[in-house]
Amino acid sequence: MAWRVGNGANIDIEKDRWIGTTNIKRPDMILSRSEEFQKVSDIIDLQSKTWDYNRVKQMFNPHDAERICRTYINPRLLPDKRIWSKEKSGRFTVRSAYHLAVEKWSDTLALASSSTGNPAWKKLWDLRVLPKIKQFLWRVCTDSLPTKDNLRRRGLDIDPVCFICGEGIETSSHIFLKCREVQTIWYTSPLRMDLSITSFESPKNLIWCAMIKYPTDYVEYLACLAWRIWNERNDVYMKEGVFNVERVIRTANKIHGETLSPSPKGTRNGPNHSVPHAWTVPEQGQLKMNCDAAVYKDGSLGYGFVVRDSVGDVLLSGAKRTNMEGSSTLAEGLALIFGLTACRDTGLRQVMIECDCKILIDGLAGKIVPEFYGDLLIKDIRETGEEIGCCSFKHIPREANKQGTHALAHFVQDHETEMFWVEELPPNLESIRVLDVNN
Ligand SMILES: [Zn+2]
Repeated sequence: MAWRVGNGANIDIEKDRWIGTTNIKRPDMILSRSEEFQKVSDIIDLQSKTWDYNRVKQMFNPHDAERICRTYINPRLLPDKRIWSKEKSGRFTVRSAYHLAVEKWSDTLALASSSTGNPAWKKLWDLRVLPKIKQFLWRVCTDSLPTKDNLRRRGLDIDPVCFICGEGIETSSHIFLKCREVQTIWYTSPLRMDLSITSFESPKNLIWCAMIKYPTDYVEYLACLAWRIWNERNDVYMKEGVFNVERVIRTANKIHGETLSPSPKGTRNGPNHSVPHAWTVPEQGQLKMNCDAAVYKDGSLGYGFVVRDSVGDVLLSGAKRTNMEGSSTLAEGLALIFGLTACRDTGLRQVMIECDCKILIDGLAGKIVPEFYGDLLIKDIRETGEEIGCCSFKHIPREANKQGTHALAHFVQDHETEMFWVEELPPNLESIRVLDVNN
């Protein structure tokens, strides 16, 4: 068990696991011990609702201190919450055993996968992707990937719970269909696959279905994406990094682009690749806010928003970069709160909201309860939304939002604090305006 920090009142600084938003851990050691500082609430400044940075630096080693200061504190200081998370003790032995098992596994299977006799596999072996990706796909279809569940069945003493979400056994279905961030990946990728409304029993089911129904190019992209999901998980596990949705999609796009030689226009696109998604102006009398966020290489978060009126003029825009640690969903949620707060503070009302984070929008609509910080974010977004009146929250495809704000989230790359621009976009981002006019 681990804790998600709320107000910190229930969490024991030393004994509990509470540092970070992924791979949650205990402090390595407490440098200065004191009776006054037993609970995590003792190192939170309740006035400013931030960490007591000086205290944190005194008490913890630099590595822990940095992670603590990057752990999200929700502004309403709601109660702490117990969550499931992988126990880290003894991780080195488990990790190396895992590594060994994966290698051994790969050797055995290299042989098996060369059997291409069955005509049902022909389409798979004909895909224009790297051989290692075909082999990977074959393993997915035969459920012979070294998932923790499979390794455990074969006698390896390993915690089978998914280390990313902590909410299910790491089976191939969990990894590719059910895990927390994976549905966002499928949806925000060019495939636009909404796994929340489809019910594939297994990834094999999904792959075969795609092979039957969709153009080869679509299946090829799907293969690259699944391959990247698997590798991202392994990288994160081995290096104790943070699972990054954007990186998975970016690298899948890259691999897909590199493998395919240029082919006639039209054949490259899957069913949804080429559908244009344009940003549209709000109705007269209404305002529209687009929000977007990015997770940077160093793990920090950037986000921005643009508010426009019914003729498309920009009324307010803002961007912020924060050193906080978290997923892209957290970043998108913070973007919404940031934009809504700015609207409230500048007196803008009747704002409809668009963002491309499906998990959040579904959460706001009450369709799902996003995990971890999601429920807190949704409470905050709803309450700030109510304050500025008549808010609607709508999910829009990434391309349409890109022209709304995408560049803003990246714009803050060079800036440390939050910035606002009234009645204009930030300098250097005039290209967004041009794009909009062209629509
Ligand atoms: Zn999971």
